[in-house]
Amino acid sequence: MKKDNLLIEDYNETSDFSYDDIGDDHISTGLETPMKANPFEMSDAEKKEKISHLFNEIMDVLGLDLTDDSLKDTPKRVAKMYVEEIFSGLNPANKPKISLFENKYRYNQMLIEKNITFYSNCEHHFVPFTGQAHIAYVSSGKVIGLSKLNRIVQYYANRPQVQERLTNQIAEDLKEILNTKDVAVIIDAKHLCVSSRGVKDNTSTTITSYYGGVFQDSTKITELQNYINK
Ligand SMILES: [Zn+2]
Repeated sequence: MKKDNLLIEDYNETSDFSYDDIGDDHISTGLETPMKANPFEMSDAEKKEKISHLFNEIMDVLGLDLTDDSLKDTPKRVAKMYVEEIFSGLNPANKPKISLFENKYRYNQMLIEKNITFYSNCEHHFVPFTGQAHIAYVSSGKVIGLSKLNRIVQYYANRPQVQERLTNQIAEDLKEILNTKDVAVIIDAKHLCVSSRGVKDNTSTTITSYYGGVFQDSTKITELQNYINK
């Protein structure tokens, strides 16, 4: 099997690759974030306490002096940041509440929210990837508050992620919320696991896209790209 042709379905056949290969090539397994059974049995407070303890261990193993004033609260800070901020999107309880409105203006062309800045973390290296998402949809009768588009991007970005899954999770959720297939999502992001380590390429960015319904039409894609590139 050629590595270039590796498909998602082939993931289980990747045993001939090292964990470095799989991580650096950012191979993703599917639409759903892989979760264990019953992931929310522990309360957030319990999770923070346990992560703090475990991060303390990591720092100790690395040889750091955990009695130093600058370091002593780092495990607590990291635990709080993981649970309440950068991985808060793992918990469906944190999903943004979405209200829809009637499309009173009868606006029936594409609506685009572009340059939505987001911060996420690569699930292979637990370092950030960050960039901009562009979302477009055509109303099927309902419209969504513009800031909710940002909130949906943030929710799915606040997980250990791969960019392809982030793109598809946002698109699939919007299709369901807006009751239409006419949704497009484009993400352009910079991965710190590519720039700050590994291959150390500081200039490359990664672009992923989802084109559903009318956005599969080449004239619509061109129209959308013209607006985004303005
Ligand atoms: Zn990575």
